[in-house]
Formats: sequence, structure tokens, C-alpha cells
Amino acid sequence: MKVPLLDLKAQYQSLKKELDDAVLNVAESQYFILGPEVKKMEENFCEFLGCKYSIGVSSGTDALLLALMSIDLKPGDEVIVPAFSFFATAGVVSRLNAVPVFADIDPVTFNIDPAEIEKRITSKTRAIIPVHLYGQSADMDPIMEIARKNNLIVIEDGAQAISTQYKDGKSVGTIGDIGCYSFFPSKNLGCYGDGGLVVTNDDDFEHIMRIKRVHGGEPKYYHKVIGGNFRLDAIQAAVINVKLPHLNDWSEGRRKNAEHYNKLCIDAGLAEETGRIKFDDDNKVLLPKAVYKNVDGLKNFHIYNQYIIRIEKRDELREFLADNEINTEIYYPVPFHLQECFSDLGYNKGDFPSSEEAGSTSLALPIYPELNNEQLVYVVEKIKEFIKG
Ligand SMILES: *Cc1c(COP(=O)(O)O)cnc(C)c1O
Repeated sequence: MKVPLLDLKAQYQSLKKELDDAVLNVAESQYFILGPEVKKMEENFCEFLGCKYSIGVSSGTDALLLALMSIDLKPGDEVIVPAFSFFATAGVVSRLNAVPVFADIDPVTFNIDPAEIEKRITSKTRAIIPVHLYGQSADMDPIMEIARKNNLIVIEDGAQAISTQYKDGKSVGTIGDIGCYSFFPSKNLGCYGDGGLVVTNDDDFEHIMRIKRVHGGEPKYYHKVIGGNFRLDAIQAAVINVKLPHLNDWSEGRRKNAEHYNKLCIDAGLAEETGRIKFDDDNKVLLPKAVYKNVDGLKNFHIYNQYIIRIEKRDELREFLADNEINTEIYYPVPFHLQECFSDLGYNKGDFPSSEEAGSTSLALPIYPELNNEQLVYVVEKIKEFIKG
């Protein structure tokens, strides 16, 4: 049985007519860059996420870059980021000649550990970028408290977590000063290429980001500041406008699949309860934990952009599953402090144990909403076969 990591065709088939019409309408209008579809999309997100402003941009990476370009970051300024995330989270900081300062993650949630942030604050620290990795919120209360106490700006990387709620019910991305999202096709809400979004409740940040999205001219061709081309195109916005009303259902499907994986693994004796962080038995996998799951009324406590198990013989398991036509992925094999491009920052192996352990033991299983029951059962059967022979 074939089990792909992601099957975008299934989703496309379910909305084919609406999506095709939306794209053709853009062709009819010949209005390709920004324009009414993007404006409509921005209004939709303000309502959906519960924020004052939202600005469509060219990608999730550009969302982060634009946010950092709009807080007046100077060369040599420091920005604290988790040591374990997708490369863009740290890459954007270096691209502006600022210094990414790494902090270790919490081993249960894979998100930045607030206590580790506090240790790394210096007189040069300007901002913190918490990442809501795999679709679960970072612990924002202590992060905001640390930021306010030290006068730091918080830019949330919600690329994998659009619509995820923190324990107070707020959507991630709307808690800090600026929130960033991605519409890369493999995210929960994907467009037909690259796309992204920044959100804020702050009038000044909104103003500067909107100007810098189109090179920084105000009025056009008169520049007090330098921006870039961070524009979103109309086809992407039109696709997102069709898909957004379905996002909560898709996330629900992912949550159901995650619960099912958890139950199957525990029933098969492959795992103990979710959220364990120690391998006390070679013949076990560690299951992910949705830490805000039992908060009253909280629906999107986790949107499972990825479902991550951990196992010591990770690479062998991955190969075994591939031999059985099950596709998996490693997000991410190398934490930032061990990346060659950051070697001049002076970090060493052993500096961030939880990030290193995540890098060497994590494996993403297929979790997309259209996955069927037989496929799910098959995946767990094969994991069992690998572990128990
Ligand atoms: C995908 C992703 C990004 C970048 O988004 P793109 O749209 O691919 O540029 C940034 N941060 C995280 C955590 C991501 O997963």
C-alpha cells in the first residue's frame, strides 16, 4: 500500500470547480499583482485570526524578512531564535547582518524554552522569534513577559501554525508584535506557489510593513526608507480565499489522524503515553503531545502541520518504511548551531541537547486529512514490524 507524506491532489479534487474558477477569474481580470483579491484576502484574515491588520506577502520567509526590516534592526543587533526550526527563522536574521542567538527547545513541544531565552539576553538583544513548530503554539505568556520586561520585540513565526490557538484562545501570530505565516503548498493552508502573510495590531508596524512591501516608497517613487518586492500575486490570494473556509475542517482531520496514531501505537505496545521524552526502552517510540489539549473550549490546540514521532533508530526506521512505500521526512536533521553557515557564531556540539536530540531522532509520518484508515493502520503495523520483527 502506498502512503505518501502529503497528497495535495485529494484536496484539489474536493474543491476543483471553485479553485479553477477563482484562478480563471484572475486571468479574466488580468489584475495579477496585489489588487482586489489580495485586499479581500487580507480582510478575511483580520476576521479569521482576530487582528487589526494583515498584509499579503510573497512567502513565509519574506514575511519574516519584512517584519525584521520594519523594526529598524541594525547590523550587529541580536535576535533570539530557537536552535531547532526551519532554516528561514535564523537565515533572515543573518541576511540583515544581525546576529541570530540560539536558544534550546523544550523537549516535549519542540518549541523554544522561555527559560533559555532569558539566559541569552544581552544589551544588543532587540527581538525574539518564537516558532510555533509543527502546528502547536510556543509558550507565549512567559515569552511576552520576558519581552516586555526587557523591551524586546516579538515576531512570531507561525508558518506551520496558521489558526493554531494558544491556551488563552488567541490565534498564534496575533499575540506578539508581528505574526508571520506561509502559504507554501505543504503548509496547512497552501497556495499555488509561494505566498505569505504578516499580521499586527500596531498602527506603526502596519504602516511601515505596507510601505516596505513595495520598496518603501511613500508616495510612490519617493523614498524615506528602503523596502523590497514582497508583493503577493492575485492568483495566490484567490486560491487562499477559496481554501480558507475549509481550514478548520482540514485541521480537525489532522487532529483525528494524530489521535488515531497515538491510540494505535499505545495499543500495539509501541509507546507509552504521549509526551514522554526519554528512551528508557529501545523498543519504543516517543509520541508527540498536544500540551493545550485539555484547555476548556480550545479547538485548535494543535493543527498538526506535522506529526512527529521520535525513535533512536530513526534512519533505519525511515528506510524500512520507504521500502514499504510509506513516505516520511526528517524535519530537521541539523539544528542551527551545527549548520556550517553559522560556524563563525562559535557554538559547539552539546550546546543545545534538546535540539540535537530532536534533530537525530525525529520523524514526520503522513498526517494529511485525506489519509484513510487503512493507510494509518498500515503505517503503524509497519512500525511495529520494524520494532518487534
Ligand atoms: C515554511 C516555513 C517558513 C518559510 O516559509 P516559505 O513560505 O517557505 O518561505 C518559515 N518558518 C517556518 C517554521 C516554516 O515552516
